[in-house]
Amino acid sequence: MEKLRRKINKIDSELINLLAKRREISREIICLKDENKSSIRDKSREEELLTKLIEQGKQAGLDSYFVTKVFNEVINDSVKLQNQIVLEKDNRELTGTTKVIAIQGIEGSYSYLASKKHFGDSTDEIVFNYMNTFEDVVNAVENKEADYAMLPIENTTSGSINDVYDAIIGSRLSIVGEEIFHVKHCLVTLEEIPLSNIEKIYTHNQAARQCSKFLAGMKNASVEYFVDTAQSVRKIKDEKNPCYAAIASREAAELFDVVILRENIANQPDNFTRFLICSKEPISVDSRIPAKTSIIMATSQKPGSLVEALSVFKELGINMTKIQSRPILGNPWEEMFYLDFIGNTSDKKVQHLLDELGKQVRFIKILGCYPSKEAEKVKIKSTIQFDDKIPQEKPILQADEKRSKPKAKVSYKLASREFKKEDTIVKVGGVTIGGDNFIVIAGPCSVESRAQIIECAREVKENYVQILRGGCFKPRTSPYSFQGLGYKALQYLKEAGSTYELPVITEVLTIDQVHRVAEQADILQVGARNMQNFALLSEAGKSLRPVLLKRGMMSSLDELLNAAEYILARGNRQVILCERGIRTFETATRNTLDLSAIPVLKEKTHLPVVVDPSHAIGQRDKVIPLSKAAKAVGAHGIMIEIHPDPDNALSDGQQSLDFLQFRNLMRELQKIRT
Ligand code: PEP
Ligand code: MN
Repeated sequence: MEKLRRKINKIDSELINLLAKRREISREIICLKDENKSSIRDKSREEELLTKLIEQGKQAGLDSYFVTKVFNEVINDSVKLQNQIVLEKDNRELTGTTKVIAIQGIEGSYSYLASKKHFGDSTDEIVFNYMNTFEDVVNAVENKEADYAMLPIENTTSGSINDVYDAIIGSRLSIVGEEIFHVKHCLVTLEEIPLSNIEKIYTHNQAARQCSKFLAGMKNASVEYFVDTAQSVRKIKDEKNPCYAAIASREAAELFDVVILRENIANQPDNFTRFLICSKEPISVDSRIPAKTSIIMATSQKPGSLVEALSVFKELGINMTKIQSRPILGNPWEEMFYLDFIGNTSDKKVQHLLDELGKQVRFIKILGCYPSKEAEKVKIKSTIQFDDKIPQEKPILQADEKRSKPKAKVSYKLASREFKKEDTIVKVGGVTIGGDNFIVIAGPCSVESRAQIIECAREVKENYVQILRGGCFKPRTSPYSFQGLGYKALQYLKEAGSTYELPVITEVLTIDQVHRVAEQADILQVGARNMQNFALLSEAGKSLRPVLLKRGMMSSLDELLNAAEYILARGNRQVILCERGIRTFETATRNTLDLSAIPVLKEKTHLPVVVDPSHAIGQRDKVIPLSKAAKAVGAHGIMIEIHPDPDNALSDGQQSLDFLQFRNLMRELQKIRT
């Protein structure tokens, strides 16, 4: 063991040295790029590089997902470094010997941690100025007691932080940067005690909002708000009562040497806070660095003035990432708008936008132009990705369309092409379903264990498949058959999806499952047996998650579209239809795949249509030809069942592909052009 560990240590230190060497070369390259004024990012060079590395990795026995993940970090680090060098060259004041940062809170608070992340790469010394309120933070920079103000502006769970908007809007500071920080709250105490013994919980009000569900379950405890999360920990330390707890970061807990009773107690794991970095002077951002601009404006008090202002963004094709209204003090019921958009104030198009807005509004002010953090985390793709953007030819039907057809009366409206001409595009975690895309959803019929779903997820990712499926609640013909592992399975499915960055889909059977499942799954599935469970459809219609609706095994296409209408009418406009075979007199196959449904549905509705060949045919050796047929006939994607050991699967093993067949399927599918 010792000997092997020494070997590992040696490899790791070699890796570190190589990474440092790589950075040095990256520094030399940016000097050349700067001389030629060539762009910092070179997408085709990055793709080419990654493709080569994946191929090399494959030969050395490494997963393509692993190689992609590691080198995405490495390449993005180079880009970040090069952006920073260019930025510092243009703004000499950014490089000093000491940086004084004003934050609300103390060491260990989230503002402290986010500052460390943001300024951590710099070799300059960082000194903190700890303040009580956001206003104090702003004042410290205005009075030159600090160089930068680090201010949390919005959170993905609790939303905008109004006090910060007001403090920035009322100040003379400029926004010079942003940071996005993953906030992971812990419940901490002085000693290990049962949750039910806790009497009081100290925390910051934002943290309490982000953990509201956890707190609702703490029936015996009262919640008391405190200036920041780290000071809440100091408070329990000072009060020495073992029944008092605090909500704070892991770092704050370690700093004050207290016990972490529970980790990750926020309502959702994707709990991110966006911080703004403000200083007295604006910075200039080189046009090669992706930038954001923030402004405030007050539109005139006449109908349609906001629409008019926003239409300038549309006309110029500028992407607005945030709009927030704040009351104007002293003018009751009048609002000021705070806006963020992608763009650089040195760009002619942005200047044109600001000129046009300026003509329409009562007040406009640029708060700052700064490097965008979101753009830094670009996902580099290899060119050997499964091709999901094969352009479709115009449907052959087109010539006929000119001839007027007698219109059949339909009992659905929202689902019809007449109501909405353009294809509905459903987006889940970077995957686009509908339009010209062809996507693949794959995974086991049922989630049988943690290991099984993780193994499937890995295989799904290795084959460039976009979405992971896995049944948690199973609608089985016999009550004695395996019924699914329920919410435990959902937890495994979500973990597998997060590990391999795959959106997940699972079926809901009852009304009460809809919202609980929607908290974890990216897409809800309504199965064939429930296609006309109108109460379930209505409930799914209230969810914000896309719904994949399967055609009932004895349902007509009109009935399918009416079922979709139930979901659409409740407000959920993200419905994906799925043809999965219908019951006919034929007994040679499990069901009969109705391939004609695809072109017919595409004519009748704007909703995406996918095909499930697995449940249609029920025999694994025939899934490949049916999948190819589905793609050829114009489906927007397929959903298939796979299993590491199909013969021993707990459900639908006979139709599940083993991993070798799955790879063949993906290879075969690439040959089909639509
Ligand atoms: C499934 O997808 O696992 C399933 C139960 O499908 P269907 O509703 O089409 O039978
Ligand atoms: Mn199944």
